[in-house]
Amino acid sequence: MVSILPQALTIPLKHLLRRCRQALLPGSCLLCGGDAGPGLLCPPCQDELPDPPAACCPQCAEATALGERCGACLLEPPHFMRVVPRWRYEFPVDRLIHALKYRHQIAVARWLGEQMAAALPDGEHWLVPMPLHPERLRERGFNQALEIARSLARQRRLPLLANGLQRLRPTAPQADLDPRQRRRNVRGAFACTMDLGGRPVILVDDVLTTGASANECARVLCLHGAGPVTVAVAARALKQRSML
Ligand SMILES: [Zn+2]
Ligand SMILES: [Zn+2]
Repeated sequence: MVSILPQALTIPLKHLLRRCRQALLPGSCLLCGGDAGPGLLCPPCQDELPDPPAACCPQCAEATALGERCGACLLEPPHFMRVVPRWRYEFPVDRLIHALKYRHQIAVARWLGEQMAAALPDGEHWLVPMPLHPERLRERGFNQALEIARSLARQRRLPLLANGLQRLRPTAPQADLDPRQRRRNVRGAFACTMDLGGRPVILVDDVLTTGASANECARVLCLHGAGPVTVAVAARALKQRSML
């Protein structure tokens, strides 16, 4: 087809038409490419996502043999009251998180919010996203925790405090640090500039790995008057895989 439009115009137009077609036709599954209908995954892939362990620590959601409190929470209780994970952080959930964070598929955040909404506690809560350092925000272009929190706010009609917390400095990856180093790594990394007036807070993040950042955020939120802090995450990495 010969275009009568200048090339500078046809390229954005083609892009727009592709977007429209994608919006009108059933999508393909993000994991296997099969028919996902109006969702993000096809039903078999959706069914295979790994649920959190049935028996887990009531505070941090780490797997425990009989659902008792874990040793780490007994030794040093976290500042958050409870972690609510939607899935375990393992294959193929890690692929979904990767698509969101590194392939900029922001639609995944909306879908994660829809999937997480039912597990949130009832009652009036502020939703506060895990903040991203401004440098990281510039690199990525968006904060995945904020995008998930936006979706949760819509689903549950809860108020969103998009800047409830700020990240003052970037933190090193926590995976290779021992618990004391992790605490030191995140100490003083977050700030809150508002009075939360005793209202319960749901801290939203994509993945909870060591829990050190969530714990430090909860500490800062409580210092600023937050009621109990619940941590809602799409996925929780587990240490005690042998108990599953
Ligand atoms: Zn699939
Ligand atoms: Zn625990």
